[in-house]
Amino acid sequence: MCYAIPGNVKSIAGNLITVDYFGEKRKARNDFYDLRVGDYVYAQGGFVVQKIDETDAVEILDTWKELFFELKKTDAKLSKLYNDKPNLDKGFLKIIDRATYGKSIAHEEALRLLLSEDPDEIEVLHKTANFIRQKFLDNSCCVHGIIEFSNMCVCQCTYCGINSENHTLKRFSLNTGEILEVVEDAVKRFGFKGIVLQSGEDPSYRSEELLDLIKKIRENYPVFIFLSVGEREEEFYRKAFDAGAKAVLFRFETSDSNLYSKLHPHSSLKERIRYLELFKDIGYIIAGGSLIGLPGQKAESVIDDFMFAKELGCDMYSFGPFIPHPDTPLYSHNRPDAEYVLKAISVLRLIDPYGKILVTTALESINPQARRQALMGGANSIMLNLTPKDYVGLYDIYPDRATVDVSVENQIADALQLLKNIGRAPTDLGI
Ligand code: SAH
Repeated sequence: MCYAIPGNVKSIAGNLITVDYFGEKRKARNDFYDLRVGDYVYAQGGFVVQKIDETDAVEILDTWKELFFELKKTDAKLSKLYNDKPNLDKGFLKIIDRATYGKSIAHEEALRLLLSEDPDEIEVLHKTANFIRQKFLDNSCCVHGIIEFSNMCVCQCTYCGINSENHTLKRFSLNTGEILEVVEDAVKRFGFKGIVLQSGEDPSYRSEELLDLIKKIRENYPVFIFLSVGEREEEFYRKAFDAGAKAVLFRFETSDSNLYSKLHPHSSLKERIRYLELFKDIGYIIAGGSLIGLPGQKAESVIDDFMFAKELGCDMYSFGPFIPHPDTPLYSHNRPDAEYVLKAISVLRLIDPYGKILVTTALESINPQARRQALMGGANSIMLNLTPKDYVGLYDIYPDRATVDVSVENQIADALQLLKNIGRAPTDLGI
């Protein structure tokens, strides 16, 4: 099974094309192919990643056709909104009502929702978030694969298990050939259309090497590339975009500059944000976000982070729980409850009806049910781990990561089963 549906090119205006998927139109950017109206393409993240043969496309579309509409029906049924709780607080309902129409909610309203401890309110919040996701984004769910290719890092982030001060950790770094083997499997064997290349901040991995890797992936595999390699020089990011990487996964970690400085003795929030602005300027699709439940972080600050991410213009949000790692300075702090993070995800959906919201592996790690719950509460994107099994345990950013001991085949089977049950199409239908 593939992770995207081929679309039919309906119109072309410069490098912006309109693609049709069973009658639904989406826009996508085409930087690589010579296209004509009537051609078939795969798009990911709003970019055309592959042009495909008409015969192949028609065959694939045939297998999808029934399922495509069946999934939509299931999703529409599961995301219906009805209020069977007559005694809810009026102030709460007013916020929910406005959000239902896609009107953005204010900081204090979002905070009111996040701080709610009332089970009925929380249930209505999740249902509303799911309703909004369905109404504004339909049933597509991005399924990207992540390859963690090096755990070497020069940073001292006090929450992170691969920080340079953790001398007990065995370090590894995959070379270009090894990464390409993983990509080959991901694309050719498993059908991924979007991959994330992630590492610690590893200067021994030279920028030229990374650029060469991106070019080789681009030349050989029709796949959308996300970079998640931290703070590298501006020139690298400009060249990487031209080489074919079109998205970055780069969290600002917290938008509270005092908290940021405490957690990152080597850096500043200003510097981190400068990067995000640079990425925007270059044209990257941005997946940004922060950690939820950091020591000293108040609920107000979580809402600040959401508002900040929206203002930055993030295309995708990656907000996940802080999980204390035993070999870091923050080992003795508590992690947040999964319920709090799930509430936060639903609030985020009310803040931005349109952004893609990722269910992070960290959230799945603190509650195995959380993937389903988050997808039923506003989220619409997941990531599967493609890191080779000899290394995945060493990418030890926090303990007991979900899926480290699950094969790629089983991760895919689990994900597809879940998506089918809740009526989501494992696709990325572009911008
Ligand atoms: N070097 C890249 C990737 C960093 S690791 C970069 O700088 O963007 C990816 C993410 O793991 C980080 O952004 C951080 O938010 C998350 N992470 C690190 N330690 C964590 C912990 N203890 N709990 C939860 N998430 C953590």
